[in-house]
Amino acid sequence: MANRKRILVTGGAGFLGSHLCERLLADGAEVLCIDSFYSGTRDNVRHLLGHPNFEMLRHDVTEPLMVEVDEIYNLACPASPIHYQRDPIYTMKTSVLGAQNMLGLAKRTGAKIFQASTSEVYGDPQVHPQVESYWGHVNPIGLRACYDEGKRAAETLFFDYQRMHGVRIKVARIFNTYGPRMHPNDGRVVSNFVVQALSGEALTIYGEGMQTRSFCYVDDLIEGFVRLMNSGDDVSGPINLGNPDEFTIRELADLVANLAGSASVVRSLPLPSDDPAQRRPDIERARASLGWHPKVALREGLEKTINYFRTLA
Ligand code: NAD
Ligand code: UDP
Ligand code: UDP
Repeated sequence: MANRKRILVTGGAGFLGSHLCERLLADGAEVLCIDSFYSGTRDNVRHLLGHPNFEMLRHDVTEPLMVEVDEIYNLACPASPIHYQRDPIYTMKTSVLGAQNMLGLAKRTGAKIFQASTSEVYGDPQVHPQVESYWGHVNPIGLRACYDEGKRAAETLFFDYQRMHGVRIKVARIFNTYGPRMHPNDGRVVSNFVVQALSGEALTIYGEGMQTRSFCYVDDLIEGFVRLMNSGDDVSGPINLGNPDEFTIRELADLVANLAGSASVVRSLPLPSDDPAQRRPDIERARASLGWHPKVALREGLEKTINYFRTLA
């Protein structure tokens, strides 16, 4: 079919990117997936490699890219604290130079461009739940700054390209998301707890475990991405995408242990610096402008995730 949409997904071999590529192919698009394989792997998209409308290219977004596309989803960036703190300068360059290059590409081609921003732009928030109008509370020189400030600078570039060059932008602030194809050892809390519970190890709780997070199942999130990309040009965001059900880390540990059928033994470890005490999205904007809200409850999503991790064992 000659008039298929051509869609570029940066970071397409990562956790969220691989689900997005799958979804876009199922919707009939032609997908060009680029990735540096810094934190993602070819295995995440191996099942798509033979698809006639799928193409995979090893490329780093900090370098210019000349391709012709109709839409760009910019997801390239290490996302878990272990990955993004391993080489913080690379993380910052990826966010900022990656955004600049992809915005330059969008400007030249007239493509719409989606940015995977993050709830981390709110830092350790003093407004709860977090609304998009809140400017955040970020330590600019701490260990998380390479990620938080990189994503904040990327948002700035997005809005400046919109104002100066009329680029059609879609900025999503993504809250903690989990599901199949999370890296088993990237250190995020859901993957850590599931892997630990399935191997009979104690679940590692950082600090008292009274800090909260709100966990969105990956399929719900991807639906939000596609709705935002397909929304009218008056909807640029930033727009929160996440599940507003909030849990303490201790509650999460109990639930994972229970669903995995393991004893809920926990081990306390020190709380990392600048770890946000609470996080929950206000999703009224997404409800009103996209008609979107998450449908998968934590228990159901964890069951699917645990089943996936069992297949790896
Ligand atoms: P991920 O680490 O699985 O995926 C990121 C992908 O980007 C990886 O495949 C990695 O190799 C690639 N990448 C990194 N640097 C690159 C570069 N310079 N050039 C090309 N590719 C590069 O993480 P994820 O959870 O899938 O996150 C995807 C995006 O969503 C990230 O931008 C992240 O900041 C954002 N996000 C994710 C969450 C979440 O809970 N998963 C929350 C907020 C925001
Ligand atoms: N760029 C790119 N692909 C394109 C067009 C631009 O990678 O198709 C890069 C380009 O190399 C530049 C960046 O995007 O570094 C920003 O481009 P823009 O045209 O906005 O700025 P300028 O080239 O004037 O710095
Ligand atoms: N966490 C934990 N045990 C772990 C991994 C993480 O208690 O094994 C905590 C972490 O300190 C944070 C929360 O769980 O308070 C979420 O951590 P994650 O790295 O998944 O995401 P983020 O901090 O970026 O929200």
